[in-house]
Amino acid sequence: MAVRQLDALIVGAGIAGLYQLHRLRKLGLSVKSVDAAPDVGGTWYWNAYPGARVDSPANVYQYWFSQELLDEWKWSERFPAQPEIRRYLQHVATKFDLYRDIELNTEVASADWQEDEQRWRVRTSKGETFDVQFLLSCVGMLSSPKVPSFPGQEDFQGEIYQTARWPQEEIDFSGKRVGVIGTGATGIQVVQTLAPQVEELFVFQRTPQYAVRMNNYPVDDAVMKDWRAQYASLKNQVHHTFGGFEWHVPEQGWALTLTPEQRRDVLEECWADGSLKMFVGTYLEVLAVPEINDEATEFVREKIRAQIHDPTVADKLVPSDYGYGLHRVPLENGYFEAFNRDNVHLVDVKTDPIEGFSPQGLRVADREYPLDVVVFATGFDAGTGSLSRMNIRGRDGKSLSELWAQDIRSTLGLQVHGFPNLFTVAGPLAPATGFCNMTTCLQQQVDWITDAISYLRAHDKHTMEPTEEREEEWVRHHDEVADSTLLMSVDSWYNGGNIDGKPRRLLSYIGGVGTYRDFCDEIRANDFAGFKVA
Ligand code: NAP
Repeated sequence: MAVRQLDALIVGAGIAGLYQLHRLRKLGLSVKSVDAAPDVGGTWYWNAYPGARVDSPANVYQYWFSQELLDEWKWSERFPAQPEIRRYLQHVATKFDLYRDIELNTEVASADWQEDEQRWRVRTSKGETFDVQFLLSCVGMLSSPKVPSFPGQEDFQGEIYQTARWPQEEIDFSGKRVGVIGTGATGIQVVQTLAPQVEELFVFQRTPQYAVRMNNYPVDDAVMKDWRAQYASLKNQVHHTFGGFEWHVPEQGWALTLTPEQRRDVLEECWADGSLKMFVGTYLEVLAVPEINDEATEFVREKIRAQIHDPTVADKLVPSDYGYGLHRVPLENGYFEAFNRDNVHLVDVKTDPIEGFSPQGLRVADREYPLDVVVFATGFDAGTGSLSRMNIRGRDGKSLSELWAQDIRSTLGLQVHGFPNLFTVAGPLAPATGFCNMTTCLQQQVDWITDAISYLRAHDKHTMEPTEEREEEWVRHHDEVADSTLLMSVDSWYNGGNIDGKPRRLLSYIGGVGTYRDFCDEIRANDFAGFKVA
């Protein structure tokens, strides 16, 4: 097959990838995208599991480059479900004529930096070779599923589904005995959705979660009119807040000036909002000061306990050994109440881990749970997983996966020293999923990368790469901010603690979306200082 010469290749056709393609095409580059899925959508293609739903409100979980797009679109709920978001992304790809430059069902098999030509040579699963100046990864932060392998799994006579690779066709669960492994944000959505549909539901819980009640509601024409009217101001606002949402977090230290009663009022107000405001919109000390975290933890424990009828079940569902917000807070809609149903059973697999499958079901502590279907909602190799699988080799054959197997580093999550002209939207050490409304962060990064490429072109330069010193500076700053919080004290996908052997580092930058943006803007304003341009 002939080698295809392009200016740029984008990997991924989800929210970031579609926007990156749109921007680079507008810049006049010859550019293509590849995506492993049979359609666009990224996360919103793969995670077609029952109950999948966004936990950012639709008025901020959107593209900011076209008012017309919103004017023509109608959301049906404050927190739309997966099929609707997927349709939105399909609509974007059609409206902006993106499909013609996207190769679907295509994965990157390897990418090698050619020092002589100063270009990337990218091979795909279809046997194609691309020769490109810029390689842009838009593969998402939570896109490489963690697939467990239990003893006896291959002999199980029922069906096994992974939430992050869910079949597109409808599955009929009626009359079935279903087991769900995993109780993170995904497992919670599956459980609350399947509970009324199935014969019996067994929830295999290792770590309970501080899930917050989602306040979802239908969006009518009047709400849409408001959202359209707010578009321009919200677009500006979200880029300067702490979490990339519309609300600001009070200055650091503010919570310490309040009485416990006043802090509780803030928590009540945020709880009533029924959104992630309850997570990254209360006050910063919740995630940093142990006593303040304890207070918030008790507050949320009370809220959860009040929803569960059986106190012994409540004892297991209410987290007791880590503080509120130290795992990513999920939003729920009937999750805890599902355990009040006679057909829903909680199986604690913390003290007695799952031993494995039998042909009929799952085995835990010498007991067999007969099941027709098992759902793995077991999470992701976050931040680095998808990039590591691409076999990327930079200067001197340096392997990105080998580097990150030792030490997860990057420069603002945008580039990695040793990998010229590789840009990583939602790469590790940027705000991204952990602490950000994703659409805000993704678009900000795509804009910065587009400006970087534009700068190179305008100055007749060909490559950009962060210096070793700049990278070290960012990693140090990132770690300092992370260490000023409690987030490294508990194992979770946030810090690589959910994957055996993964080096520990907070994967998302917690200094705030606005602060991060200021860093990026300053670099751009100073001719990409700290980045070697050649
Ligand atoms: P997760 O939070 O990492 O949860 C994975 C779950 O699987 C955990 O309960 C984990 O237990 C369990 N698990 C893994 N291996 C296991 C094993 N061998 N035996 C028993 N349990 C096992 O993953 P997730 O739920 O997919 O969520 C990841 C992130 O995706 C979220 O935090 C959120 O950022 C995003 N998300 C967002 C939405 C939304 O927008 N609404 C929805 C879903 C996900 P341990 O904790 O004990 O390891």
